[in-house]
Amino acid sequence: PVDVLASLNDAIKIMSPQIKQQHVDIVIQSPDSTLTVMGDLVRLEQVFINLLSNAIQAMSHSEIKRVSINLEAINEHIIIQIEDTGPGIAQDNIKHIFEPFFTTKDISQGLGLGLSISHRIIEAMHGTLKVSNGASGGAVFSITLPHYTPLQ
Ligand code: ADP
Ligand code: MG
Repeated sequence: PVDVLASLNDAIKIMSPQIKQQHVDIVIQSPDSTLTVMGDLVRLEQVFINLLSNAIQAMSHSEIKRVSINLEAINEHIIIQIEDTGPGIAQDNIKHIFEPFFTTKDISQGLGLGLSISHRIIEAMHGTLKVSNGASGGAVFSITLPHYTPLQ
């Protein structure tokens, strides 16, 4: 069992040099109850690190640099939404974004593997990872995972 908020906070701690250097605000909304999923703590952290690092890179020219993270439990699922204030993803790229080696970055900035690996990790945890653009134009990544509740 993995505590989602604890794993997210670990990822934020690991990313804190980049977060501070780029003056990025991280805003987390989460219920008071612990949200638990079944899986590999290190791999879930890796997914959060990949998504945060993409968001920070995407916002490098943005005036407002904010990552809004929303955690909630709906029925038997936990939904984690990560939205940034970057330029979002071009419609033509959205369908390729989870393919290995798809990147719009310079070779020194990225290999195009982060999202394909993240997608595989979430699928291995019986969840889904989806992308869209938010109302304010930034990218929104949504992770859905089965909510783990121990049998009474
Ligand atoms: P990489 O970061 O090495 O390019 P990823 O698999 O992590 O590879 O991401 C693939 C591509 O998806 C990026 O090159 C970028 O074009 C796009 N992308 C990912 N996250 C975001 C984001 N938060 N905002 C805008 N574009 C993004
Ligand atoms: Mg990346």
